[in-house]
Amino acid sequence: MKALMKKKSEPGLRMEEVPTPQIGINDVLIKIQKTSICGTDLHIFNWDRWAQKTIKPPIVIGHEFVGSVEKMGENVHDVELGELVSGEGHVVCGRCRNCLAGRRHLCKDPKGIGVNRDGAFAEYLSIPISNVWHCDTTIPTDVLSCFDPLGNATHTTLSFDLIGEDVLITGAGPIGAMAVGVARHAGARYIVVTDINPYRLELAKKMGATMALDVRTQKIEDAVEKLGMKEGFDVGLEMSGSPDAFKSMLSNMCHGGKIALLGILPETAIDWDYVVFNSLTIKGIYGRKMFETWYKMTMLIQKGLDITPVITHHLNYTEYAKGFEIMASGKAGKVILDWTEK
Ligand code: NAD
Ligand code: ZN
Repeated sequence: MKALMKKKSEPGLRMEEVPTPQIGINDVLIKIQKTSICGTDLHIFNWDRWAQKTIKPPIVIGHEFVGSVEKMGENVHDVELGELVSGEGHVVCGRCRNCLAGRRHLCKDPKGIGVNRDGAFAEYLSIPISNVWHCDTTIPTDVLSCFDPLGNATHTTLSFDLIGEDVLITGAGPIGAMAVGVARHAGARYIVVTDINPYRLELAKKMGATMALDVRTQKIEDAVEKLGMKEGFDVGLEMSGSPDAFKSMLSNMCHGGKIALLGILPETAIDWDYVVFNSLTIKGIYGRKMFETWYKMTMLIQKGLDITPVITHHLNYTEYAKGFEIMASGKAGKVILDWTEK
């Protein structure tokens, strides 16, 4: 089969001909229909410090996908051949305290598909049945291929009660923009989004942001005043990975405000006075809940959440280099690669 691989410890990726993956008795072989490119894939492409530390080539990359069941192991009874499926990108150990307690998103030793084991940017992917998600076939496959990042957005956004609350989202990347839609559906009042990329601020507006601020020229404090807000934001969703953005969030929260941190921040000097004297709650977020988040996002979409404005590009898998270039330019939301067209 064709697979997009990190072949050697160097920048770039290569489309290779490799054997179709083997399946164990508990595994499902998925024929990939569509995949979407994640920021993580871009890190692997660029071979930055994180990628050099984490990725062990040769490996097939990619973890955002939708496809159909091609084959299953003999222990697998609850999927059908040809069924439309996606899957959770973290393969958990199943034996640690959290796994045994049913809190699989808190597993002590998760392995990432396309990061620590062969991934989905290929014609076929093998994953354990415990990672398979049965898709609602009325949801478009473009949207289903984004369920992994939509899951990050949904899990982060639903971490705290949003009904009638004012929400600050730092970072209008694909996940920040999807979070706007989720927060709207969850009943937030004002949703203020920040970024330094006008293209992405437009996406956030399309997703329902009350205000989308370019923090190179606009201040959160001014927006707060314009909206007539008196005491700061109730909920903050950090989705940029920028220390500047996080600091601006800390100084604009209300007393007792709640922050969910999804963005991967470098070591950052923090003025802890904001946290302590304002009694802030800060919650770190990794991944999505298995599978509570998958149910939530399915139902949100069934109930009218539309994330298609965030899906900006469609390419054939052979055009992957162009896809990565578009992602790197920042003038993109989600970029979909189609593996069914030849
Ligand atoms: P992304 O990199 O595409 O988006 C980040 C956005 O932040 C960009 O649009 C960028 O212009 C913007 N930004 C940069 N500096 C800013 C600033 N000073 N103020 C406001 N915005 C600024 O990433 P994404 O795919 O949307 O993911 C969002 C974040 O979540 C990233 O940091 C990513 O690494 C992280 N992430 C974490 C998990 C997890 O499980 N914790 C999973 C997926 C992604
Ligand atoms: Zn575990």
